[in-house]
Amino acid sequence: MKNPTLQLKDVSFAYSSDPVLKYLSLDIEPGEFIGILGPNGSGKSTILKLLGGILRNDSGNVLFKDKEISKYKRKTLAQSIAWVPQEHPMVFPFQVSEIVLMGRHPYLSPLTFESQKDFEIAGRAMEITETTHLSTRPFNEISGGEKQRVMMACAIAQEPEVMLLDEPTTALDIKYQLEILNILQRLNRDNGMTLVLAMHDLHMASKYCHRLILINKGQIIKDG
Ligand code: ADP
Ligand code: MG
Repeated sequence: MKNPTLQLKDVSFAYSSDPVLKYLSLDIEPGEFIGILGPNGSGKSTILKLLGGILRNDSGNVLFKDKEISKYKRKTLAQSIAWVPQEHPMVFPFQVSEIVLMGRHPYLSPLTFESQKDFEIAGRAMEITETTHLSTRPFNEISGGEKQRVMMACAIAQEPEVMLLDEPTTALDIKYQLEILNILQRLNRDNGMTLVLAMHDLHMASKYCHRLILINKGQIIKDG
């Protein structure tokens, strides 16, 4: 029996007094391609942030490879789990290639610069996401679909085992949605990357994901 990559065990979480998640349990096996679906405010983003170690659970256990996620160093965790947020609140005029290279930060020691290998990995991530031609463009000036692909390139450059993506296709035209889902499909199929996506569109999710988890009010109402 293989062990789950990520596990939520009876996890509860509240931002303030009202609980958002109550005793939620979920096992994510290596190589899965999971879509988490549910109405706005149902807890999708919160679940992803707990799985990524960005938020800390109030009770229960969040485990990555059988070890409490809070016990990992941030940097170690970032070498294994990449989180692609829904919003990209980047206001500084970084150019695209610089943002992708930031994905290599978990591998750099303090006071060292990126090596040739880091540039190569970032370059490959841009090829996979078809963002190479955007390299020198300011991030602020590219389209929404392009921004999403650049954020994915940054996550790929992290060389993670698991990628958590928060509504990566919401608000994009159908053409861009398909591009993104096809990239994810290849990462899952060819690289065995474990993927967990918060999704809005049931139709799209059911076409790509191998497992769909429906949540409502912070509870799993269907899993399969
Ligand atoms: P979803 O991603 O499914 O829309 P969220 O996980 O973002 O849902 O939100 C779940 C609940 O937690 C909602 O009621 C939302 O209002 C609340 N919430 C989300 N983020 C915060 C926050 N930073 N502070 C307080 N409440 C929050
Ligand atoms: Mg959300």
